[in-house]
Amino acid sequence: MAGAPLLQVDDLHVSFHTPDGDVRAVNGVSFTVEAGKTLGIVGESGSGKSVTASSIMGLNRIGTATSTGRILFDGEDLLAADDEAMRRHRGNDIAMVFQDPLSALNPYYTVGDQIGEAYLVHHPKAKGTEVRERVLDIMNKVGIPNPTKRVEEYPHQFSGGMRQRIVIAIALINNPRLLIADEPTTALDVTVQAQILDLMQTLQSENGSAIVLITHDLGVVAETSDEVLVMYAGSAVEQTDVHSLFNTPMHPYTLGLLGSVRSLDDDSRGQLRAIPGLPPSLIKPPSGCAFHPRCAFSGEGGAPCTTEFPQLLRVGSTSTFSRCHLPDETRMHLGAQAVEG
Ligand code: SF4
Repeated sequence: MAGAPLLQVDDLHVSFHTPDGDVRAVNGVSFTVEAGKTLGIVGESGSGKSVTASSIMGLNRIGTATSTGRILFDGEDLLAADDEAMRRHRGNDIAMVFQDPLSALNPYYTVGDQIGEAYLVHHPKAKGTEVRERVLDIMNKVGIPNPTKRVEEYPHQFSGGMRQRIVIAIALINNPRLLIADEPTTALDVTVQAQILDLMQTLQSENGSAIVLITHDLGVVAETSDEVLVMYAGSAVEQTDVHSLFNTPMHPYTLGLLGSVRSLDDDSRGQLRAIPGLPPSLIKPPSGCAFHPRCAFSGEGGAPCTTEFPQLLRVGSTSTFSRCHLPDETRMHLGAQAVEG
């Protein structure tokens, strides 16, 4: 029997208060991630995927954000946790890898000092020899050649791919149980992307950690994820296992994303440029279904797309949940047709 999930997010809402009005960045998102599994959260920029990730890390506490719901990490509600508890988790049993390794690293310190510092924050009594050993060991694990020499070098002396390996080493040095990776390979070329994804999967299978992978790239999702959450305008629009997402997509937005994947060559696979129109304003989203201005099926068969906000519901007896007014049979038919076509 499966145990309790390591991470359980229930009905998460996040708003940012701005002079122009409240930006409703995340609207009632729920999901679970088990140890050893990867959840891919996919969507365009402004879909709420990165805000969801930073909420798990407690990074939306500063400033004008309001968050409600629950983020249970091993049973503890992180939204209700105090700052001290979040500091204990951050970089220790929950770690994050960001998109741009250069801005995540300090140009004035050696990479060895920066990796060692991440260890010392949570092991303040560690002796110098222990820290050095840990640093060299993790550099070795993430595939940085000749770590005894390179530990003394500065970030600018490394390539983009090697810098991202250093960022991953910083994230993994305390053996986190949960790794949040926000577009970890977007800034890298295709070959290096594949190497970094392989590395993350190898380290995951060694440590049994759970990964939440934020990406706009369905190619990355296909290669790494067990479960997938597709977000649009702050809401989950489709949630399912990776096999079902690619074989029987049920939401018109997902169909659009998959269309863009299939129509593109290898170098730009997965970019979301094939869907016409732009993501909506999160201050004044469209009435009804937020996707309706861009949806080829809006109003099909009299569906109330422009007036009623659709619920996220299971489609028939499948394992897929989707937020769309179209009848189940229509969605199943569209998905099957898209995959065949
Ligand atoms: Fe398209 Fe209507 Fe479904 Fe929204 S509810 S995705 S507009 S068909």
